Amino acid sequence: MKWKILGSGGCQVIPKPLCSCTVCTQARTKGVPYSRTGPSAYLHDIGLLIDTPAEVSTQLNHSNIARVDHLMFTHLDPDHSEGFRVVEQIALDFRTWSAYLEKRISLIVPDKIAKRLSHMKSQYGPIIDYYLEKDFVKITPFRDTVQIKDVRITAIPVDRGSQTVFIYVFEKSGRKVIYAPCDLKPFPEHLNEVQNADLLIIQPGIFETRLKHDFIYSDDHISRTTLYTFEQTMEIAKRIGAKKTVFVHLEEYWNRSYDDYRALEQKHSGISFAYDGMQIEV
Ligand SMILES: [Zn+2]
Ligand SMILES: [Zn+2]
Repeated sequence: MKWKILGSGGCQVIPKPLCSCTVCTQARTKGVPYSRTGPSAYLHDIGLLIDTPAEVSTQLNHSNIARVDHLMFTHLDPDHSEGFRVVEQIALDFRTWSAYLEKRISLIVPDKIAKRLSHMKSQYGPIIDYYLEKDFVKITPFRDTVQIKDVRITAIPVDRGSQTVFIYVFEKSGRKVIYAPCDLKPFPEHLNEVQNADLLIIQPGIFETRLKHDFIYSDDHISRTTLYTFEQTMEIAKRIGAKKTVFVHLEEYWNRSYDDYRALEQKHSGISFAYDGMQIEV
């Protein structure tokens, strides 16, 4: 499988607008790999885009990607869905105000996400209704697994109360990749599907030291309900036997630069921190 991490940032991009901290100032000067846009990835084998952060159009334009055949969402939080209008940017024929049909994107979504698509609205109502009417997308809902060409995708729900977040497992030719960029607690580590992956793409969770403002997370901080700590995430990766781990969804608040992450990679085997445009072959 040939993967590209389009956006390695989290719910806040780096540089954070107007922020003058060291990490943001350096990112503003140096650009990629120091700067980071919102969380999204692309699987070349099947022309699959996963998640649409606000910067997704720019991400695609900075890549060598020529087609988006399929789109999946891990969940519909704004940092993963704000750029959904990219389907219109890609497919709109300005002469007819409908789609070039050969550019229509197949929305591959678990039933639970399909049902919630209508919650995303513009002043005219649910944007999905408009996109369907104009043929920018067609919806292909599925329950647990879906096969696209020779790639089998399994959706594993993480129950987050008000909404369900999905972890996806991709299998092709005996290779396995897990994509779990956000809100993955409790991680379903007891399931067979997540064992012994060749690659685990996951968020690192909370860093507890060297944060901005010298902030210390209290034991009952709300972020601990959705996030593991970095150490806990490393333990999960080890317990499920992930052969390689790539960390994504890197928050500005972790107060760590590209160089800091490179230094951390040297201290642990089998891990890397993603950067925008990173290519991974599995
Ligand atoms: Zn900053
Ligand atoms: Zn997120």
